[in-house]
Amino acid sequence: MTRFRLRYAPSPTGYLHIGNTRTALMNYLFAKHYDGDFIIRIEDTDLERNVDDAIDSQFDNMEWLGILADESIKHPVEKYGPYMQSEKFDRYKELAYKLVDDGFAYRCFCTSEELEKEREEQNARGIVATKYSRKCLSLTDEQVKEKLDANEPFNIRFKVPENKTYTINDLVRGQVKFESKEIGDFVILKTNGIPTYNFAVVIDDRDMEITHVVRGEEHISNTPRQIMIYETYGWEIPKFCHLTLIVDDSKKKLSKRSGNALFFISQYKSQGYLPEAVFNFVSLLGWSPKEEREIYTKEELIKIFDETRFSKSPSTFDMGKLKWMNNQWMKKIDNEYYLNFVKSYIDTTRFPIANVDQQWLDNVLLLFKNEISCAIEINDHLDIFFEDVVVKKELQELLATLGNWKELIIHFEKQLTGMTEFNEDNIKKTIKELGQELQVKGKELFMPIRIAATTSEHGPELAKVICLLGQKKVLANIQKMK
Ligand code: GLU
Repeated sequence: MTRFRLRYAPSPTGYLHIGNTRTALMNYLFAKHYDGDFIIRIEDTDLERNVDDAIDSQFDNMEWLGILADESIKHPVEKYGPYMQSEKFDRYKELAYKLVDDGFAYRCFCTSEELEKEREEQNARGIVATKYSRKCLSLTDEQVKEKLDANEPFNIRFKVPENKTYTINDLVRGQVKFESKEIGDFVILKTNGIPTYNFAVVIDDRDMEITHVVRGEEHISNTPRQIMIYETYGWEIPKFCHLTLIVDDSKKKLSKRSGNALFFISQYKSQGYLPEAVFNFVSLLGWSPKEEREIYTKEELIKIFDETRFSKSPSTFDMGKLKWMNNQWMKKIDNEYYLNFVKSYIDTTRFPIANVDQQWLDNVLLLFKNEISCAIEINDHLDIFFEDVVVKKELQELLATLGNWKELIIHFEKQLTGMTEFNEDNIKKTIKELGQELQVKGKELFMPIRIAATTSEHGPELAKVICLLGQKKVLANIQKMK
């Protein structure tokens, strides 16, 4: 069997976001499921639109997610490279001229004004999908020579075969047909000698022996043009797979303007989402496994990947679900990984964690392992341990509604003061006994103690929090409330 080779081919005109991550990830899973190769190729032919740090940022974010390439500009294999289109301009040029020499393409000297005029004329005749008139196809060799001698600039256009039907057997959409008469002769090499996307992509996919092309559905109308180029020389055509759109709540294509959805991977990284969770979540955008389960590791996804299970309808991006999934992953990872991860998100200007007992710190952080949905949220929970929190007015008002709260906390304070072994069990026991003694239970028992002892209305297990705050701090907190 031929070795499967798939590629992710970003244009460095922007940063890694949910949309292109999904493309990269599906190519990666597809390749790895079949023990094949996953390649990253940089399509940087649009020189003006290239963003300086886009390539580095794409690689960094992909690495963070665990989408690792077997071949790329960083791991080139000579036989298939270069992996950056701007390093192959000579090759595209040579092949474009070969197409001209072989009669499959021709020079077009039309200026942009002439082309614009043509389009307007066609529009005026009611033609919406305008096509190049093929004016330059009828130039004689002498006329071409004259123009070349006069240094007239030209594009090279591919000569679209007449009256042919192109059928794509797309892995997502099934059979999609295109009629060649709908497609005008398209430019393959621009005046400045730079290839167009449709040309360079074919040369590269062929040079790199790509077997499957998985990309966004916006490229489906490009595909017949690419097939025409393959067929010219009888090159083997890869299998195509055009992924459906990812849409936001308002059913628009997901973008950086999509409401509360985080779009760029760097945003997930800086807010403390786990790469495993983002990977897991993105893998279920437009693809689903046989089972109902939702939490999968990368290795499991590689194993269960199935190219027949792509969705035919758009997938809706649900930020709430991603938060939920991240929280599931926080619970799933082991304590050591969690601690290392979460520590790197602590705002050390507020919480000087280097100066405290590290075992104590770990225990405090572990209190929130099941609570937070992203690591940066840890900073919302640490104030009561590190700062002198002033109890908010609303909390004091809430306290006032909770029965005989004052008597309760005076008793509690007394018990704590006399407690020789300040530990979780003793604290738990004290709270229970106080409830029995004073005949209070539920919210009226726990809430006054929580507010008075911890200065907060919410939090994980009460006795644990009290224990980690320490006797001194808890007693000081209670003092403030009386
Ligand atoms: N550079 C193209 C893009 O970013 C790649 C399209 C393809 O995969 O063929 O959309």
